[in-house]
Amino acid sequence: MNKRIFLSAPHMSGNELKYIEKVFESNYIAPLGEYVNKFEESIQNYTKTKNALAVVNGTAAIHLALRVLDVGSGDDVLASTFTFIGSVNAIIYQGANPVFIDSDKETWNLSPKLLNKYLCECEKKPKALIVTHLYGMCAGIEKIADICKLHGVYLIEDAAESLGATYHGKHTGTFGDFGVYSFNGNKILTTSGGGMLVSDNHEWIEKAKFYSTQAKEPYLHYEHLEYGYNYRMSNVLAAIGVAQMEVIEERVQKKRKIFEWYKECLRDVHEIEFMPELENSRGNRWLTAMTFQNTKYEKIIKALEEINVESRPLWKPMHMQALFGGAKALTDGTSEMLFDKGLCVASSTTMTKDDVVMICNSIKKTLN
Ligand SMILES: *Cc1c(COP(=O)(O)O)cnc(C)c1O
Repeated sequence: MNKRIFLSAPHMSGNELKYIEKVFESNYIAPLGEYVNKFEESIQNYTKTKNALAVVNGTAAIHLALRVLDVGSGDDVLASTFTFIGSVNAIIYQGANPVFIDSDKETWNLSPKLLNKYLCECEKKPKALIVTHLYGMCAGIEKIADICKLHGVYLIEDAAESLGATYHGKHTGTFGDFGVYSFNGNKILTTSGGGMLVSDNHEWIEKAKFYSTQAKEPYLHYEHLEYGYNYRMSNVLAAIGVAQMEVIEERVQKKRKIFEWYKECLRDVHEIEFMPELENSRGNRWLTAMTFQNTKYEKIIKALEEINVESRPLWKPMHMQALFGGAKALTDGTSEMLFDKGLCVASSTTMTKDDVVMICNSIKKTLN
């Protein structure tokens, strides 16, 4: 049996251990240290954002954004329905109510049209929107940002999956009031677990830093006026992050190449449609995602499992989750269709063209 091929396995650059060793030599294992600063700077330089805060994970970064924007009990917060639960859990942490907006067919991401319709017709104005750039592909972010501005709604970009993706050359995560990246084990880069909150607003990032370190007032003794969290990233993990950032462009190129291999290999299979790429954007193709017109994805997952290859259905929309049974939503069936017909295939940057060909042959055999 071949070695298992994962959806998106960690892929080290080779410098991680060297930097971790430096951390150990200095004994700045934790809490902070120079690698936390270096990691934040590398994200700032790469995404061209003014401020970055390294935290324990992407979910914590979203939580801090909501807290800084003073989203609280009874507030409505808009969100992409077609996303991973990590996008929206923090809405619940803050006692606010999620309102889910469906995707459009051009991007599979949040529909600017439905967003505008909701905001024009709603009785209660939502405080913020959390928009996801799913599978590393850009949402119609310029339109979405314009609509949010027009209606006075804060914009948080969940770019957890989309580090390196750009629209008109500008990085996802830098269009909104806040952007969030994740370095979880399966993302395009990983620190084993980690996240980054970015914003051009210096005061907001300072406030997020304050909340992320137990909200200690600036006195020698421990003085507290507000409650906070223990959300800062450790220097050890930041050292991994610095080494990972050295290869971000290589990883984006490889993910895009893997997608091209799939597309080429499956071009004669007419029932397959790939996740589209918005015009003038460059997605990072974190996971190659596709839909099957006539075949149930379970059959394909099972066939791929037999050759020891991982694949997964597309995210189940949030408005379909029992957890959010009572939540408001504006949907038109797009995300439900995608969930019914869609599949993510293995897209690890360690994969070769032969791996992709083997996977495609198995898919084709299953369809026939
Ligand atoms: C991974 C992910 C998150 C959460 O990030 P963590 O670092 O795992 O907390 C949030 N949103 C999306 C879309 C994700 O894929």
